[in-house]
Amino acid sequence: MSFFNPLIQLEALVTLALISIISLRLRILDRKGVLASIPIGYIIFTLGGVEYFIMLLLFFGLSSIATKIRVKKIGANFLEKDWVRSWRNVLANGLIPASIIISGYLSQVPCKSLVAIGYLAAVGTAFADTLATEIGLLYPKKPRLITNLKQVVKGTPGAISPYGYIGGILAGLIICAFSYGLGITDISALPTIIAASLIGMTIDSVLGATIQAKYRCVICGRITESRVHCGERADKVSGFEFVNTHIVNLMAIFAGSLISIALTIWI
Ligand SMILES: [Zn+2]
Repeated sequence: MSFFNPLIQLEALVTLALISIISLRLRILDRKGVLASIPIGYIIFTLGGVEYFIMLLLFFGLSSIATKIRVKKIGANFLEKDWVRSWRNVLANGLIPASIIISGYLSQVPCKSLVAIGYLAAVGTAFADTLATEIGLLYPKKPRLITNLKQVVKGTPGAISPYGYIGGILAGLIICAFSYGLGITDISALPTIIAASLIGMTIDSVLGATIQAKYRCVICGRITESRVHCGERADKVSGFEFVNTHIVNLMAIFAGSLISIALTIWI
């Protein structure tokens, strides 16, 4: 039981303190983002183990690097949000992985591999979605909306492109290589994890195109996912008010994880 081992508790706290300082310094997370990331990291480190924590850190670190590169190359305006991640972003990406670790710990499931697969598919979906967004923004042409395949402006929720899928596949491969290297999962589970991550990422696009709230700016006329644009409250044109990009992320990660477990049980 690693949770009751004081040494592991100490290791977790020291590691989290260091990562918090680095994240603040490099402006990867804002203060509330750091506060939200501490309980999530702590749960995964102490209840799951250091290998599971490394997987989350890998996702977090590489996503942040990808975002920084994109911002340097083409600027921050495409997604109309700051590149410093907030608590909403942290919870959207971290709640499902942390919940899987907690339920695996509480139920003491005999098939530890199922917890590992569900966890890796959750992190895989989050990572695939992030890399798809960042690499997709570098696509030279206009992306297409996943529902009707019409060309849309870059950064539109639900927009897909070949670059996006290359990003998603790359994320899946990275998750597989590291999880296999760390001994969390065996080679037979890797296709399931990649498939579930890509399906999860696609569900994210479908939800983004359908139920996510979209607004039209009253000043510049642009369709945006943020409620406020050009300093004014924008008009809602479609979707549900309470479904923002973070809710969509959370739902897609949950779906990716469930799909991986279903695939493992049925195949
Ligand atoms: Zn505007």
